[in-house]
Amino acid sequence: MVGLLPQRQTGLVPEPRCQGKLDYFPWQTNLALSYYRQHEEKETRNRPSRLPGRHQRSSPYGRAQRGSSKEEVGHEGIPAQDAAVGQAGRQAQKQREEERWCEVSIYKRSDNGIYWFKYMANGRLVRVSTHQTSDKTARKMEATHRARTAKEHDDEQAARERLNCSDVARCASCEKLFDAHTMVSDGSNQVFCSNGCIIKWRREHTAIPTVGEFIRDRFEPWARTKFQKEATRTWDSWYEPGIKTILSYSPLCDRLLMEVTSEHVAEFAAHIRTEGLAGRPLAAASANARLRVLRRSFRLAVEWGALDKAPKVKLESGERHRERVLSPEEEAKYLAAGCPLLADVATVLVDSGMRPEECFRMRWESETWVNGRHGTIFLAHGKTKAARRVLPMTPRVRAILEARWEQAGKPEEGWVWPAETKSGHVEGFTFKKQHRKALNSCGVRPFVIYSFRHTFATRIAPRVDAWTLCKIMG
Ligand SMILES: [Zn+2]
Repeated sequence: MVGLLPQRQTGLVPEPRCQGKLDYFPWQTNLALSYYRQHEEKETRNRPSRLPGRHQRSSPYGRAQRGSSKEEVGHEGIPAQDAAVGQAGRQAQKQREEERWCEVSIYKRSDNGIYWFKYMANGRLVRVSTHQTSDKTARKMEATHRARTAKEHDDEQAARERLNCSDVARCASCEKLFDAHTMVSDGSNQVFCSNGCIIKWRREHTAIPTVGEFIRDRFEPWARTKFQKEATRTWDSWYEPGIKTILSYSPLCDRLLMEVTSEHVAEFAAHIRTEGLAGRPLAAASANARLRVLRRSFRLAVEWGALDKAPKVKLESGERHRERVLSPEEEAKYLAAGCPLLADVATVLVDSGMRPEECFRMRWESETWVNGRHGTIFLAHGKTKAARRVLPMTPRVRAILEARWEQAGKPEEGWVWPAETKSGHVEGFTFKKQHRKALNSCGVRPFVIYSFRHTFATRIAPRVDAWTLCKIMG
């Protein structure tokens, strides 16, 4: 085996076993190398565009590399031939002094016939594949690339002068040139001109969730923590069915959150109205409940920065506001379950048909004990003329109000239902918790406080004409 013999003893120069692979030379002496180079150069002369890797090693473009290569060869006394240069290379060498920062040459790789070009830019050798096998196209691309590089160079020069700094960098987000000393980094190898640009870049480059992912991963956990324990009813009758319905409709859920438009929402609405859940179409009110949950999720997505603009959610028309009317039994159960203040207010409401806020704003100076059979309530602060009216008291309203009046020390004026609120009297929220508590303990099907007004109107309607009813209701 030749490979085992030291070269100095034999004085032989081994034939390269496999051209193009230096590893096959067990003794990498200068002599062996220069022998190999001669062979290689001969070859390269015939095919000047062979193997870009070796080109680079003996290329005329890198001054230092070229220098060392010459020295190595010269040491053995073999004249160096810059064979790898080729016609294009020699021309480039001539031009180098004029175009120090940018020289381009084009060459073809022998293994796949793809054209590459390379050039020096700002002391760096840049090699670019054109991915083309046609030299015409490759040359065109090279020209374009060259023009662009030249323009970038000019821009950078101009920016340096304009910003009066030694070094400029290009922001990865807004692509503007800025003083490199003021750069901000996000920890990666990208540079940015400002923190705002980092945020913008992140928003553009982090994975955008689908509607389903957003609802499952962010919206549902939020709704659970906010409502499941504190407002069980809201969770059970509102969020849970809404989330379930949205997640069951994959054409909407599989869409990217940012892609969703009002059209996709309308498709979803149409689907639940016609196909519905498990083949049962949803009524307008139920569909709207789901759509409101969807709308809430879009608005939160905007609030949380996952979405730029919430798509419009158009509610279905034809939602019937079924007006809940209480039966006398339900009313009695509720009044028994409510705390005294709530029971009193509820009694006044159900016997007078006042709007809740009219009742909350009642004042002693507006009550008259002697008018009518049991006294009257004057509502002076209506929004419209019709809302200002006098209502008769029923015996139990008279009893409640009189007892409260006496308890308060028979005041001449002041709020009938005083409370420690900003306004000084009770408000809707005063009864929110107590109303829910009363509902839970009395077992009556849920209703809202406003239902007392409907209940009153329904009860009185058969006994009065429409005109009087309007007058009473205000
Ligand atoms: Zn920027």
